[in-house]
Amino acid sequence: MQFPDHLQRHLERGASFRDAGRYRGRFAPSPTGVLHLGNLQTALLSWLAARQLGGDWLLRIDDLDTPRNRSGAIEAIQMDLTWLGLNWDGPVILQSQRRGIYASWLSWLRRSGKLFACRCSRRELTGQPIYPGTCRRAERGWGWKQKRLPSWRLQVPAADRFGSGDVVLRRADGFIAYQLATVVDELCFGITDVVRGEDLREALPAQCSVFAALEQPPPRFHHGPLLCDGHGMKLSKRDGSSGLELLRHQGLSPAAVIGQLAAALRLVDPGDELTAQELLIHMDQESISVLHS
Ligand code: GLU
Repeated sequence: MQFPDHLQRHLERGASFRDAGRYRGRFAPSPTGVLHLGNLQTALLSWLAARQLGGDWLLRIDDLDTPRNRSGAIEAIQMDLTWLGLNWDGPVILQSQRRGIYASWLSWLRRSGKLFACRCSRRELTGQPIYPGTCRRAERGWGWKQKRLPSWRLQVPAADRFGSGDVVLRRADGFIAYQLATVVDELCFGITDVVRGEDLREALPAQCSVFAALEQPPPRFHHGPLLCDGHGMKLSKRDGSSGLELLRHQGLSPAAVIGQLAAALRLVDPGDELTAQELLIHMDQESISVLHS
């Protein structure tokens, strides 16, 4: 089925960036708290990859899941990136301001017959690693029933599964799912390369299924190492102690923090202090490639 003109224009705009042959990356934090050092390491890796190749680096805020957003987090994210010298290109993209766009893509998918309404509760699906297809053919209706709306799932053909099941694109609480919003944004903004944390590798099969449903090429994906705490646990945004505020209070400079993050990525020696720009020059001189290190 053909895309309506306005969706076609979104795709063409994105494709024009990609066709220009220029690297375009993005950093896409969720404003659920302050960025911790693990998030900042990912930001640095993603920024370096873009800057090393003379490309663009966009900042996108994944703030669709309103109940999880924390007040002040969007400002804090921008302040921390700026303090570290990780500059982004163009205006900050707020997903919450693009709800209408995601809804248009969702309704195109629905009209094309690629979605089905699913009334399975979380409890019914417990223990199923992949959605078993329960509601695929069921006439369980899409209206308001048992005091709730269904979720909408993409019916993923076997060939496009990449190990994922039928992906939820609109949640039962009415929110557009991350999997749809992120794919639409990579396409609309002409993203060529996504650099993010290893923890998001598991989201990749579902995203590839969504690109396939839209018949659009996915960007290249790179998943960087995760920084752990002293006990080998993944850092959490809710644990404010792992943010920059504390380090600033302890008198650490941006160069000291960049040095620490870069050492964890094995780009410099432990104890080195250098600004983000100096790190870029250092890597250029040493011919270190971020994406293949
Ligand atoms: N907003 C997502 C997160 O912070 C990441 C999105 C992405 O990089 O694809 O976990």
